[in-house]
Order: sequence, then structure tokens, then C-alpha cells
Amino acid sequence: MIVVMKAHATPAEIEAVVERVQQAGFQAHKIVGVERTVVACVGEERGKEELAQLEFFSGVDSVLPVLKPYKLAARELHPDGSRVDVGGVEIGGKRLAVMAGPCAIESAAQMQGAAQAVKAAGAHMLRGGAFKPRTSPYSFQGMEHEGLLLLERAGREVGLPVVTEVMDPHDIERVAEHADMLQVGARNAQNFSLLRRLGKLNKPILLKRGMSTKLDEFLMAAEYILSGGNTRVVLCERGIRTFETATRNTLDLNAIPVLKQWTHLPVIVDPSHGTGAEALVIPMALAAVAAGADGLMIEVHPNPEKALSDGPQQLRPARFAELMGAVRRVAEAVERTV
Ligand code: PEP
Ligand code: MN
Repeated sequence: MIVVMKAHATPAEIEAVVERVQQAGFQAHKIVGVERTVVACVGEERGKEELAQLEFFSGVDSVLPVLKPYKLAARELHPDGSRVDVGGVEIGGKRLAVMAGPCAIESAAQMQGAAQAVKAAGAHMLRGGAFKPRTSPYSFQGMEHEGLLLLERAGREVGLPVVTEVMDPHDIERVAEHADMLQVGARNAQNFSLLRRLGKLNKPILLKRGMSTKLDEFLMAAEYILSGGNTRVVLCERGIRTFETATRNTLDLNAIPVLKQWTHLPVIVDPSHGTGAEALVIPMALAAVAAGADGLMIEVHPNPEKALSDGPQQLRPARFAELMGAVRRVAEAVERTV
């Protein structure tokens, strides 16, 4: 259920509602909007009749059921769409957020080269993997802690916040020390113990869609983080497995408008993993922006043919600059900025 407060409800009236919700055995999540505050009551459906009485509390406008199973992620709760701040970069506003950098952190020189190139082309955040989820245990697994330091340093040098993947719940604190945003990779999209732990963290989370995760399951995964109290969640469509083998994955652009209807969370798109091919990244990035994405994640490497992972899909700096120019033109057509 959600309790919608009147536009001029006082803090005391809001607190009285929160207290009553908790007494009834529910968690009360206060969402302060531009015009009014909403109190989301989350818990088991049993006992929800008790919440109907809240309609008679002073300062309450209405008490409504949230029909979706993802109570905190549902658009009903936050009709305007939420905005997530990552080290001063806003995701979900009019301006698109572009995160770019190599698939894996490989060396100080590679990271600095990538950071300078993506910054010069106009990216807003720097990416790079220190813990790499590889299909084969014999492939390069990432530079781990040393990589985190290189990423942090490269981001700081060019003035970009950094995002990197955390694979193991035991590494969360260590990664959070060095990163502005923590990424959950496709292979961990339904790792519920990882998601629960991230719900307790005071850092924004980039949650990637699993390669066989339906959109309602994707939002239930986000709900694990939100219900822990961490409201700063950004979703990332990165392609799904289908019968089509011409591309590494099938980038599901339907997901953008569907998610925009169902949830208030910002949605970005990763056409690098979505296609697996350098030549397809620009067209699909443009399509994603045209379809309403709030941002992009793009793999960029100073020297892709030497890359230790995902070489075929990484853009050279010059191609990334070309992408940014083209994204700017499409963004303008859909009334966004870059
Ligand atoms: C990545 O972004 O580094 C990555 C491994 O992507 P995904 O989890 O989408 O495969
Ligand atoms: Mn990659």
C-alpha cells in the first residue's frame, strides 16, 4: 500500500503515519517528492486492512494499493522518475549520463589513456573492471585490488566518478572504498545475497540485467536492493540470450519504454555487451537514446587489439569521440542533452 500525504502535510503528520505503519508490522519508506510525500508500506500482504484506517489520519490524502509485486521500484510510487547522484553526476535527469572506459583494468598506462580519452570526448563517468566474471577460469580474471587503485587514481586525475563491478559479497566494502558506484554484472543479477548486502550500502548501484532475466524479474532484483534501504539504483539493459547467434547478445530495446512505464528507476543501455561488435556499438547507442535511455555504458580501450578481454567490442578513442558527436545530435531530437 502507499499512503499519499496532502501537499501541505506537516512533518509531525508524516511521522504519525510512519509510526502507525510500523506498528502494523510494515516497513515504512518515506519518499519525498517535489509536491508531496508518499509513505510506502512494505511487508507481507497479511494485515494490510489495518492500513486502510490511515485514510482518516490528519494530513493524509489517500491510501492506495500498489498492484505491482515490486513495491518500491514501481512507477506508481514516484510518478516523476527518480534521479540518482553519482559523485556529482545526475542519472535520470534531462542530461544523458555516459559511462565509458575499458572492459578490464589492465595497467596504469592503459587506464590513464582511456580516462583522458573518454573525458576529452565528453563522457561523464569512467568505467573499468577489476573483478572480471569470465566464462573460463583460465581467462584473465582482473587485477582485483590493484586494479581498483588504478581506476580510482585515473578517475581522480581527470575528474570523473568511477564505476566498477563487485562480484563477491565479501568484496563490497573494499570496492566501495575506491568506487563511486558499484556494478552488479549480468551473471549476478539474481544473486540475492549480493543484492541484499548492497541494499545496506550507502553507494549508488548499477544493476545489469541478467541474460535470461525477464523484466519483472529484473525489477524484483532491484527491489532486493531498494528494500534494504538503498534507494540509489540505476538499471542497465545489456542484451539477452535469444536464438539469434549473429551477435553476442540481442540488445532488447523494448526494455527501455517498458521499464519506463513500470518503474521510476533510471535506465541506461550498454550496446558494447549488447552487440559484442565494435561496428554495431554506435548504431545501437543511437537507437537506445532515441528510445528514451537515460544514459549509456560504452567500452573504450586505447588499443583494443591488445585488450585482455572483450577486444572485438571495444571502441578506440577516436570512434568513441565519433559516438559522442552522433549521440549529441540524437539527444537533441528527443529533447535531451549530453
Ligand atoms: C561489464 O560491464 O564489465 C560486464 C562484464 O558486463 P555484463 O555483466 O553485462 O556481461
Ligand atoms: Mn566487457
